[in-house]
Amino acid sequence: MALLFLSDAARGEVFRAAFAKALPQVAFHVQHAPDPAAVRWIVTWTCPDLSLYPNLEVIFSVGAGVDQFDLSAIPPQVQIVRMLDPSIAQQMCGYVTMAVLAMHRDLPGYLAQQAQGLWQDRPATPAAQRRVGVMGLGQLGLAALQALRPFGFALSGYNRSARQIEGVACFTDLPAFLAQTDIAVCLLPLTQDTRGLLNRELFAALPAGARLVHAGRGAQLVSKDLIAALDSGHLAGAVLDVTNPEPLPPDAPLWRHPKVIVTPHIATRTDDHAAAAHVVAGVGASLAGQIPPGAIDRSKGY
Ligand code: NAP
Repeated sequence: MALLFLSDAARGEVFRAAFAKALPQVAFHVQHAPDPAAVRWIVTWTCPDLSLYPNLEVIFSVGAGVDQFDLSAIPPQVQIVRMLDPSIAQQMCGYVTMAVLAMHRDLPGYLAQQAQGLWQDRPATPAAQRRVGVMGLGQLGLAALQALRPFGFALSGYNRSARQIEGVACFTDLPAFLAQTDIAVCLLPLTQDTRGLLNRELFAALPAGARLVHAGRGAQLVSKDLIAALDSGHLAGAVLDVTNPEPLPPDAPLWRHPKVIVTPHIATRTDDHAAAAHVVAGVGASLAGQIPPGAIDRSKGY
């Protein structure tokens, strides 16, 4: 029985060492498996030609999402597992906190003033009057809300299934959520329902002067609609870690928009050792006939 690793070679060596220690009975191959029929597990970002691997049981994504896979091209008996690295939530908490505070304290406005050598107060809103709403109350959304607690914002959350979180107003109705959100933080997975969700209609449903923090997936954002909403003055700012497309081309207007801060999809980086431990645990579960941690629900697509 073998595992085929199809990602970064240096990361592959970390995985190889983890498997040699924990599961030496699993043959570990990087990039090429001499006997494809022996391959039961694949670790990858993109999906290879699966017809080569008739005995495949699990595909492990090296990313926190699985939206890069065409799920319909993966045989139904193959489990799909996303990366669950505890450091991802911690890193995302740092990013969301940074971005929400940058929006709350109007960092783009002060950066523009700095460029002009202008020493001047800008309008400020007390945290208790700033309504921060997180879209997607999964692993990352819940962690982000916890991280935002100490700042005293009025917190809310939007999620497909109902949630109850102490001190957080939880919504399953998107328009109702948007109507009471001054800073919207998108941490939704990319699915058919969320592709293009951050569009003109959604921005119009936010109160005037609202801001966006987007750290979900780039394809959820309609860039021209965001720029129109910012230019009309309806939205006051945005922090984007993910864009559509990625990489954002050098001449894309978002790079130079005075109300926008762009980071190149760096909110989180997978820690190789934690990732290896996650996959070792997943293969161990698979060997024991159990569902690996992080296995997605194919009917939901995440
Ligand atoms: P997760 O644990 O699977 O949680 C996703 C949450 O979103 C679930 O609570 C789900 O609701 C909710 N949801 C899904 N579709 C929805 C919809 N149409 N409307 C409302 N709620 C919906 O995922 P996660 O670990 O928190 O990660 C979320 C996403 O963050 C990932 O999929 C990835 O795209 C993105 N991400 C970005 C970075 C970065 O570097 N920028 C890093 C890691 C992850 P239910 O509970 O009802 O299913």
